[in-house]
Amino acid sequence: MFKGAVIRLLVLLGCSVFGFSAHSAVILQYHHVSEDTPAITSVSPAQFSEQMEYLAENDFIVTPLSEVVDAIKNKKPIPAKTIVITFDDGYQSIAKTAHPILKEYGFPYTVFVSVEPIQAKYRGMMSWDELIRLSQEGAEIANHSWGHEHLIRKLEGESQAQWLARIEDNILKTEEEISKATGQSHKMLAYPYGEYNQEIESMLSQHGFVGLGQQSGAAGIYSPLTALPRFPVAGVYAKLSSLKVKMHSLNMPVLAQTHSDPELKAGQWRPELRVTLDMSDIYPHQIMCFIQGQGAKKPLWLSANEFSIRAEFDLPAGRSRYNCTAPSKGGTGYYWFSQPWVRAKDDGTWIEE
Ligand SMILES: [Zn+2]
Repeated sequence: MFKGAVIRLLVLLGCSVFGFSAHSAVILQYHHVSEDTPAITSVSPAQFSEQMEYLAENDFIVTPLSEVVDAIKNKKPIPAKTIVITFDDGYQSIAKTAHPILKEYGFPYTVFVSVEPIQAKYRGMMSWDELIRLSQEGAEIANHSWGHEHLIRKLEGESQAQWLARIEDNILKTEEEISKATGQSHKMLAYPYGEYNQEIESMLSQHGFVGLGQQSGAAGIYSPLTALPRFPVAGVYAKLSSLKVKMHSLNMPVLAQTHSDPELKAGQWRPELRVTLDMSDIYPHQIMCFIQGQGAKKPLWLSANEFSIRAEFDLPAGRSRYNCTAPSKGGTGYYWFSQPWVRAKDDGTWIEE
């Protein structure tokens, strides 16, 4: 109770100091920039060039992720139109195709890497030497787990304590190896597959790490530091026409929420999410939510600033999301918020991927 009140006061103080528009950063998540890789995780070189040109011509401020994290941590203002560019996994096309384009614009970016694929020299992955070269020209290299594991999944016969100790060791070992190879240690983890749970979030916080998901939304002072949202840019989400709206999106002013743990336990397949907002820049009737796979859903208002949404049908095994958006009163952009979910199959096993 007391802790909640203090957090809320800090947030309100933050807002009065730097206003509503000055607290959002849109973090883009890429994998491949290539025409020869799976469309679902790729943008073409032409699309990537077009997107970078759009950012440059429209005065976006492309900022290193570590600076945005520092601003959110310390409640410092974030300039309007702040964008962060990130790549997951460390594929060759970053060095070959994306880097020269980013260099041309002077845009910083972050690459999240797993150690095992680099050490095993998997085809299509960058080497440490290449990552070092990129980092010397402005790239941040950060943590994507040791072997790109599904972090929330327990091994057979593993206890809760054994599982958490294994994940803790995995993340710390990866950070140490990245630091040894590149000299960088930003303590920023991009969750493989965007999967995390409350226990992993607490463990990361204890070690001073931040965590980045794959749920959409603008990041900012209202985002949990262990669940920073990113907009995946690939496949059908790579079109500039729809991407523009995301680039201009704003951090939803969430003051409190229930059910922030994405990992659903048996019997929770239609989770109710209650969200309390600062309504000063939002008209309640303009908030619209979407349940992945179940379409649009009007929020149910419980009070002047608290609403509830809940799936009509069971969420499927695997990952899904609730998304809520609302235009700002001034029409400068859409407040955008997403809650990820992940669940096992009915027999307790996980879907194969
Ligand atoms: Zn990945």
